[in-house]
Amino acid sequence: MTPPPAGTSRSSSATGSSAISLYRRKGTLPAADGLEGSRAWWWEATIDRWENARELHWCRECEHGFVAVLGLKEHITRVHGR
Ligand SMILES: [Zn+2]
Repeated sequence: MTPPPAGTSRSSSATGSSAISLYRRKGTLPAADGLEGSRAWWWEATIDRWENARELHWCRECEHGFVAVLGLKEHITRVHGR
């Protein structure tokens, strides 16, 4: 499968997944605003109040944040048909 074009300007690193796991263990990750399959996502407004927002991967179509780039790719394919 071809990855979507790079449109995630707010994704500054590829370490989001492990970073989120660390924050989860520390209890500092905000509660997910929803689930898409088994993957949690957050509204941008929720993450904006959270200082480590740059660790998430953002969908530019609907402003959902994902902990892993793989989750974002699956979201774009499933929801936006790309
Ligand atoms: Zn989206």
